[in-house]
Amino acid sequence: MFNNSWEFSSTSPVNAVLMQPSVLEKIDQWRQKGFLSQAEACGILLGERKGFKGKEQYLNITDITLPYNTDIRKPTAYIRNTEGHQAYLDELHKQSKGRIQYLGEWHSHPQNVATPSSIDYREWHKTCLNFPNLPLVFYIAGVTEDWMGIQADQSIYLPKTL
Ligand SMILES: [Zn+2]
Repeated sequence: MFNNSWEFSSTSPVNAVLMQPSVLEKIDQWRQKGFLSQAEACGILLGERKGFKGKEQYLNITDITLPYNTDIRKPTAYIRNTEGHQAYLDELHKQSKGRIQYLGEWHSHPQNVATPSSIDYREWHKTCLNFPNLPLVFYIAGVTEDWMGIQADQSIYLPKTL
């Protein structure tokens, strides 16, 4: 069983993250069960920001984008392109009248227990520079265990362990 809700301590800019079951089902199809015989998958996390900024805020991940043919995908690396992902986000954003927004990034790892690489931390840092003061979710799908964290500016927040 994989988690689909996470709570954070009071020092975190976000109190909780929810992931809709349909999102987890999509991610499940891209887990690297074949380890290095499969390429990493990547996409963006989409959903709603609820509550007040910096206070009782929670994020509801309602959808994701899936790997697009312009993404560069290798067994232990990936480069997500904007093509496809951006168009999907724009469409949902428009349809929902702005309710559905960009919430962060996801990708898969050829590991049982997903752990971020130094490249992941570097890339997330770059991504966050484009969203000052806005907490983003970063999610890594492992084969048996996923990793998730929130990053706002320079700080990473990890969920409370259950
Ligand atoms: Zn990674």
